[in-house]
Amino acid sequence: MIGTLEINGLTKSFEGREVLKEIDLEMKEGEFLTILGPSGSGKSTLFHLIGGLLHPDQGTIMLDGENITGKRGLISYMPQQPALFPWRTVLQNVLLGQELQGKVEREKALNMIKRAGLEGYEQSLPDALSGGMKQRVAFIRALLSPQSLICLDEPFSALDDFTRLEMHQWLLSIWAEYKKTILFVTHNIDEALFLSDRIIVLSSNPATIISEFEIPFERPRSESLLLSEEFLE
Ligand code: ADP
Ligand code: MG
Repeated sequence: MIGTLEINGLTKSFEGREVLKEIDLEMKEGEFLTILGPSGSGKSTLFHLIGGLLHPDQGTIMLDGENITGKRGLISYMPQQPALFPWRTVLQNVLLGQELQGKVEREKALNMIKRAGLEGYEQSLPDALSGGMKQRVAFIRALLSPQSLICLDEPFSALDDFTRLEMHQWLLSIWAEYKKTILFVTHNIDEALFLSDRIIVLSSNPATIISEFEIPFERPRSESLLLSEEFLE
């Protein structure tokens, strides 16, 4: 598992209208990179291209040195609305990513469900969960899947401010242990500043990268979180 991404000259139009224009982007192993851009700027389109759900008009996407342009199933993609199967229990949903790859680690999954503050909900169906809980299930499924790169598409935008804060802290504490590479998109500037190692800002019509900066100070990681583990219990 590594998770280095290299995108070169990615361009995509819909019905003659250019949405993404010559996007270049590189990610290091274990980096938390956020793409910040206004609604409609093409953030989800970028993820659909990286996940192979769409083909670019031009450009290439390389994952760990392999050309994955137009190929599906090689990254872990978490869409904006948590895509949980309503007829599968929390545990069955979490195990899905592993089942697809033929390697099920049930104990690890149960442990992660507990860490997500969802102990006792293993056999519940998603409808019994709040929005924040559903997002945690979707995220631990992505984290336990074998793919090295996780793409998170505005995962917290539908949550209230307090739940979002709780999710940010939880996400950082869990991610600090697993250290998968995370590509995150959001239109929320505070969220980007809080979570990321590095931020790339997209313009719209068509989207190009207009600025890029590293966060110049240590991010709050697991050991220094404002809300502690007990908070989730
Ligand atoms: P964001 O995720 O940044 O809000 P999107 O990537 O969803 O933006 O959309 C960028 C632009 O591309 C929007 O104007 C949207 O209407 C358009 N678009 C996205 N997907 C399609 C599609 N399949 N067909 C036509 N237009 C699309
Ligand atoms: Mg979007």
